Amino acid sequence: MRYDVAIIGGGPSGAIAAAVLAKAGISTILVERNFENVKPCGGAIPLGLIEEFQIPAELIEKKLSKMRARSPKGRVIEMQMPNGYVGMVRREKFDRYLRSEAERAGATLAEGLVTTISHSGDGFLINTLNDKIPAIRARRIIGADGANSKTAEALFFPSSELKVIAMQQRFKYTPAIQKFSDIIEIWFDSEVSPDFYGWIFPKADHLAIGTGTEDKNHNLKALQKRFIEKIGITDLPYLDEAAKIPMKPRRSFTQEKAILVGDAAGLVTPANGEGIFFAMRSGKLGAEAMIEHIKKRIPLHNYEEKFRKLYAPIFFGLEVLQSVYYRNDRLRESFVAICSDDDVQRITFDSYLYKKMVPAPWSTQMKILSKNIFHLIKGS
Ligand SMILES: Cc1cc2nc3c(=O)[nH]c(=O)nc-3n(C[C@H](O)[C@H](O)[C@H](O)COP(=O)(O)OP(=O)(O)OC[C@H]3O[C@@H](n4cnc5c(N)ncnc54)[C@H](O)[C@@H]3O)c2cc1C
Repeated sequence: MRYDVAIIGGGPSGAIAAAVLAKAGISTILVERNFENVKPCGGAIPLGLIEEFQIPAELIEKKLSKMRARSPKGRVIEMQMPNGYVGMVRREKFDRYLRSEAERAGATLAEGLVTTISHSGDGFLINTLNDKIPAIRARRIIGADGANSKTAEALFFPSSELKVIAMQQRFKYTPAIQKFSDIIEIWFDSEVSPDFYGWIFPKADHLAIGTGTEDKNHNLKALQKRFIEKIGITDLPYLDEAAKIPMKPRRSFTQEKAILVGDAAGLVTPANGEGIFFAMRSGKLGAEAMIEHIKKRIPLHNYEEKFRKLYAPIFFGLEVLQSVYYRNDRLRESFVAICSDDDVQRITFDSYLYKKMVPAPWSTQMKILSKNIFHLIKGS
């Protein structure tokens, strides 16, 4: 069978792209290696995403508007989001729902591990392991196959550079850890992560606790073990999961007949490792560009230009933040101290929830700058 578009990967980026294409009447196949896949992920999503993609209430296990940041010296800052919340989802349910929406819109869903993609005529020929799916012909391709993208490799996209390796464990609630059930905790502490952070995310019936690092010399399991000890948990997790987080966009993620979206394109923001929003936004923008391309022959690179125009300032800002403050515990200590400022919290939460860089008034910028200098000199 020949399709207009084949999407490789059925996570949030691929599922959204499939739904948008199918709704526009484009014949679309989505190939996912495993419909039962449980993507290792904290599952924290901003309110803006929930509203834009009309995520059903039953998928949001928790709505959290309180967050605690903990410094290396144990200083704790508690923050309250005035205008919204972070939603907690469970990826196995979330991804399944998004794929079902794509199918409802008219996309074909097929299970199989894509092993080869080759140019053929005006399009591509796609094969799966053991020919689980008969060879697929498609005029165009969307690579939505995550951090280790087969599509990117097969079509020679520029390599993806910066990757955090992250691990997470799930702990069923017990009376001892119930106190974490209604607040997000973020730990900035080199004993937990030398260059990223540790997180405690509450879900309906468990805590998801994890850490990550870019540093290949660090033993991730040892960092996670220390984190769990520091929190004071003695119970055993019921699930261990680990995966890469690609925190830098590829130099280019568009070709004449193919695009990459989500993690495959490297669209996860530095400093916070947020990828679900950018996966879904890039899936949507990529699919819209694909529709224009198929119907009106408009070049696909419009997709990448639009994405960069919208989000490059956020990626840049967070890259600067990470490179300045995540370098050592003295700087992390300053960072947490700065987070105690109401204006910093307001700007951070407004930017996070709706992905808009909210320019602070000049007076606020000066106040934040002077606090920065003060804390950096004082070292706390
Ligand atoms: C430990 C951890 C915690 C995280 N926490 C958060 C968080 O709290 N909030 C947040 O916003 N982001 C978080 N992220 C990042 C987020 O998970 C990703 O950015 C997001 O899943 C990207 O979506 P995607 O659809 O692009 O890729 P993925 O979700 O990785 O989906 C790719 C899909 O492609 C399939 N696939 C791969 N190869 C093939 C192949 N060859 N053939 C067929 N199918 C294939 C996979 O099975 C998978 O279903 C976290 C990441 C990690 C590792």
